[in-house]
Amino acid sequence: MKFEDRIPEKYKKTGDITTLQLNITEKCNLRCKHCHVMKNSENLEMSKETMQDCLKFLDNHKMKTVDITGGEPTTHPEIVWFIEECFKRVEEVIIRTNATNIEKNQELMDLLDKEKAKIVVSLPCYTQDNVDSQRGNGVFDKVIANLIRLNEMGYGTDKELDLVYNPLGGFLPPEQSNLQLDYERELKKKNVVFSNLFTITNIPIGYFRDFLVENGEYDDYMKLLEDNYNEDNVQNLMCRYQISVDSLGNLHDCDFHLAEKVTMNDYISIKDLIDVDDLTRKIVWKDYCYGCSAESGSSCGGALDE
Ligand code: SF4
Ligand code: SF4
Repeated sequence: MKFEDRIPEKYKKTGDITTLQLNITEKCNLRCKHCHVMKNSENLEMSKETMQDCLKFLDNHKMKTVDITGGEPTTHPEIVWFIEECFKRVEEVIIRTNATNIEKNQELMDLLDKEKAKIVVSLPCYTQDNVDSQRGNGVFDKVIANLIRLNEMGYGTDKELDLVYNPLGGFLPPEQSNLQLDYERELKKKNVVFSNLFTITNIPIGYFRDFLVENGEYDDYMKLLEDNYNEDNVQNLMCRYQISVDSLGNLHDCDFHLAEKVTMNDYISIKDLIDVDDLTRKIVWKDYCYGCSAESGSSCGGALDE
């Protein structure tokens, strides 16, 4: 059955929008096998003018959170200025990073030291072999070294430092709180502490879809997601509370639609939203949306049932 036909009518529209998620660059130094973003990347970077449009939107709309992602957002030349401007407008600034190169941007490290950002680092396993096989040789060691640097600034204790797990193949994530205990035990051996582990279901798009098709697993994976549809998660789907902006300033219901170039209903660009009062809208649904509702549910903030 189509995903859209499973959702109760009352949840087909957004609730109150609290988060502006910004994909400020399509550039990334890695090529992870599970990546849903990079396949359609044109290596675009958000211009300063578009960033200023996003700030104007924040001036006119009370948002709780700005969620900065990419590609690898810490490589954007305006990242420090932009984070500082966001902090003037919202209480929470999230920075999603693969944490392989952040130590090279000293200005950014100084800002993260001074401010209380929320840092979310993708780390699909706590073993070197699994991480390097999915993300490239040497990635695990670089991430661990930078997690230790972030710990020294208080991230993981006084400031929030979250890790993201995603399955290494066509299966659903294990239970989030149990897996967090495993991560804590194993990373303690590397002298790393963190705040929360987020388990995220792989959405069958981008390179991950290619991987499933090449291995003859695509249909089985779609069936797995559909069979585990969980209506309890639908009201909390992240698209119901956020707006996602791509590097050109175009609007999408979420990061997955952004990666697939599925645009938002009614509005095209963040410029169009600056002076709009009512931000509620009908969401565009695709069958890969089953990935967000399956079993414990999945979002940029991890499982939905916790
Ligand atoms: S998953 Fe993240 S770090 Fe890996 S290639 Fe994609 S954008 Fe880059
Ligand atoms: S992929 Fe997930 S977050 Fe995006 S529109 Fe579908 S259900 Fe919502």
